[in-house]
Amino acid sequence: MPWVREDKCIGCGNCVKACPVPGAITMNNGKAKISNNLCTRCGKCFDVCPTQAIRSNSENPALRGMNAGRPGRGMGRGPGRGMGRGMGGGSGRGMGGGRW
Ligand code: SF4
Ligand code: SF4
Repeated sequence: MPWVREDKCIGCGNCVKACPVPGAITMNNGKAKISNNLCTRCGKCFDVCPTQAIRSNSENPALRGMNAGRPGRGMGRGPGRGMGRGMGGGSGRGMGGGRW
C-alpha cells in the first residue's frame, strides 16, 4: 500500500484529484491520507505528488529500513531529520575494566 509521509505532504490536493477511486485518498488536517481499504495501488498519486510524499510500501522505513532507494526516481529520501539517533546508546560494551 502507498503511504504518505506527512512531513513531506504540503496539502496541495493533487493526489486527491488524481485518484480514480473516490475516497481512497482524502485530506485530513491538511495532509493526505490513504485508505488502505479502498486504494487499488494504481500509483497515480505517486506521479502527481510534487514532494514525493507518497511512497510505496517498499520504501516504508517501518518495514524496510531506510535504505531501499530506487534508482531513477531521483531525490527522495529527504534529509532525515535526526531519525534513528541514539539507538542502542547506553550500556557500553564493557570496555575498560579488566586489565588482563
Ligand atoms: S494508488 Fe491509486 S487508488 Fe491508491 S490512493 Fe493513489 S491514486 Fe488512489
Ligand atoms: S500530492 Fe503529495 S503533497 Fe499534495 S496533498 Fe497529496 S501527498 Fe500531499
